[in-house]
Amino acid sequence: MKLLRWKALLREDPMLCTQCGGLCCKSYPGMYLDPFQFVQAWELEGKDWRLGEVLENCYLSLKVCMGIPIPLPRFSAGGCIFLRKDGCTLPRHKRPLECLLMIPRVETLLGGEIRCGFPQGLDYLECFDRWREFYQERGIWKEALLIAKTWTSPKNPFLVKVWRSES
Ligand code: SF4
Ligand code: SF4
Repeated sequence: MKLLRWKALLREDPMLCTQCGGLCCKSYPGMYLDPFQFVQAWELEGKDWRLGEVLENCYLSLKVCMGIPIPLPRFSAGGCIFLRKDGCTLPRHKRPLECLLMIPRVETLLGGEIRCGFPQGLDYLECFDRWREFYQERGIWKEALLIAKTWTSPKNPFLVKVWRSES
């Protein structure tokens, strides 16, 4: 299973993150680092989907990293649009892999600055390459680049749906 390798790297601490209130989410949303986790999260497997429609309907955007567009939640001045007072409104299985992989540290709470980090073994370049291959294999490389370049009118983030947590 392609996603099993990530499970070994997870070091979540929901209690600590609840106390923190999502300092990382207020700073910048995490990215869907693995295209297969993205497909699984948004239940796209076996469906005829278009990138622009998925981004629009799921309140996502694209961040260009090393020339490669990577999906992530939209954000406003307050940070990720999925963040609410009581935490992330996305069910755990829909959250970006980068969010899930962040290792909470108590020092963040103590100092008020993000001291949380990412596990050794997380190779961003490899993740970006996977996305490039994913786009190329599906023939949507140019489409992804075009969307990333021209994305201007996301839906009003304040109308964002609230997904009930199933995790
Ligand atoms: S990962 Fe760190 S910064 Fe993010 S919510 Fe948890 S404790 Fe706060
Ligand atoms: S998706 Fe959830 S966990 Fe990730 S940045 Fe947004 S609010 Fe935080």
